[in-house]
Amino acid sequence: MHYFHYQDDELFCEEVPVREIAAREGTPFYLYSHRTLERHFRVFDQAFAGQEHLVCYSVKACSNLSVIALFASLGSGCDVVSGGELFRALKAGVSPAKIVFSGVGKTVTEIEAALEAGILMFNVESAQELLVINEVAGQRGKTAPVALRVNPDVDPQTHPYISTGLSKNKFGIPMGEAVDRYLEAARLPHVRVVGVDCHIGSQLTKVSPFRDALQRIKSLVNTLRRYGMEIRYLDIGGGLGITYEAEEPPQPADYARAVIGVVGDLDCVLIVEPGRVLVGNAGIMVTRVQYTKEGQQKKFVIVDAGMNDLVRPSLYNAYQHIMPVRKTDGAAGRAVAVDVVGPICESGDFLAQERPLPPVQRGDLLAVMSAGAYGFTMASNYNSRPRVPEIMVNGSRYQVVRQRETYEDLVRGEIVAVWEK
Ligand SMILES: *Cc1c(COP(=O)(O)O)cnc(C)c1O
Repeated sequence: MHYFHYQDDELFCEEVPVREIAAREGTPFYLYSHRTLERHFRVFDQAFAGQEHLVCYSVKACSNLSVIALFASLGSGCDVVSGGELFRALKAGVSPAKIVFSGVGKTVTEIEAALEAGILMFNVESAQELLVINEVAGQRGKTAPVALRVNPDVDPQTHPYISTGLSKNKFGIPMGEAVDRYLEAARLPHVRVVGVDCHIGSQLTKVSPFRDALQRIKSLVNTLRRYGMEIRYLDIGGGLGITYEAEEPPQPADYARAVIGVVGDLDCVLIVEPGRVLVGNAGIMVTRVQYTKEGQQKKFVIVDAGMNDLVRPSLYNAYQHIMPVRKTDGAAGRAVAVDVVGPICESGDFLAQERPLPPVQRGDLLAVMSAGAYGFTMASNYNSRPRVPEIMVNGSRYQVVRQRETYEDLVRGEIVAVWEK
């Protein structure tokens, strides 16, 4: 459910014609719908209404300050995976008491910043990290609240790059070691065990892997409690999938029902870390057709956005639906299979391959749908391309919530080195 829709063959975001924004702000750009973001958050949050819970929005999905601030205003906390994301969350007004810090490679500087901020808990991913957190907390006269991220070894049945809960993945602490690691943690003077954490992957389209993982986690919680540990928080991670093409992921209510069905009686505060499901279908990327050309084997539509702006098709071979911003643009003709490609000097630079599209011409606008999650946040400056603006629509108004980068931005902090003889 989202608020991008056609009105008289013209694509609108809420009440604003996408073409008008393109005319004023240039292309390419990311476009987020405030109403969609708000709706997604409320639906997800309400799905867990029967359970004491905290939604910690996973910042890496879309880290624009306006997006974080909107969720914070609706009561959200944040899941951060770097010092930079912690900085963003705090700057956007998220209460530190609602921030959890995940990630396999936390640096001492990042741990210090999180301790200083007073976050809710660290999701610890290795025995060594636990010792470092204990040491840094001790030096600062603090006690670090921790959960251990446990790897339950279940197959989330998603793309291998975004599977995280298999025993071969780098994430978390193996289930078989978890009790020993917890016993070690309980003996450390400067950490306090407050929870258990897991996150098994992203873009999951079934509830069964969640259920399997949580059954294992539940028996761990019971064991830890028998050892006298107070497990207040149960962080079940994120990962609920969305529809890009024809996937039929569970609705938030189905997901919540499955989760609560397994762990609802544990008397824990449930922490959920949704990313994609909140923002994925709340954002699109708008790009303009530069050229069309016919190769010997393929027809190409060359657009002004490339893999540096939206890498998901290149990186995961992901499907992103593409629609004309004005349906009459070429709608007269039959759809033909084309490759929609960017200007980057790589053959891996495509937004779609062998995709049936109505005929398009130089100057037409295309909307790349479902680009709100892992879109802008994965953008780079490759080929020295300034990153594109992020724009948010709210009703009949819009605001540029991140400016288009300039060439000066590209070289900020760089010098031409001069070597004295
Ligand atoms: C990426 C990530 C999430 C969010 O995953 P989605 O699939 O976007 O919901 C949640 N928790 C952790 C630890 C993550 O790394």
